[in-house]
Amino acid sequence: MTATLIWPTNVTARFLTRTGLHLADTRATVDITDTNGRTIATCRPCGWTTDHDTAYRHQVLEKAQHHADGCTALPNPNA
Ligand SMILES: [Zn+2]
Repeated sequence: MTATLIWPTNVTARFLTRTGLHLADTRATVDITDTNGRTIATCRPCGWTTDHDTAYRHQVLEKAQHHADGCTALPNPNA
């Protein structure tokens, strides 16, 4: 696992998915972005997403953590 992985622009938090933990694959993450008053969570391997006003950012983070805990989708090797 790469500790110095460069995060994409605008990503403010990341959750490693179940797949990421098992395979030590840092591509398997749920990424959080905060833009234009919205907090958006997007799972990179499966495409799951949720969002809310940034005032409710903590709820998006909770959902993202919950999704990451159970997501077994594999990252696209061609992406
Ligand atoms: Zn997922």
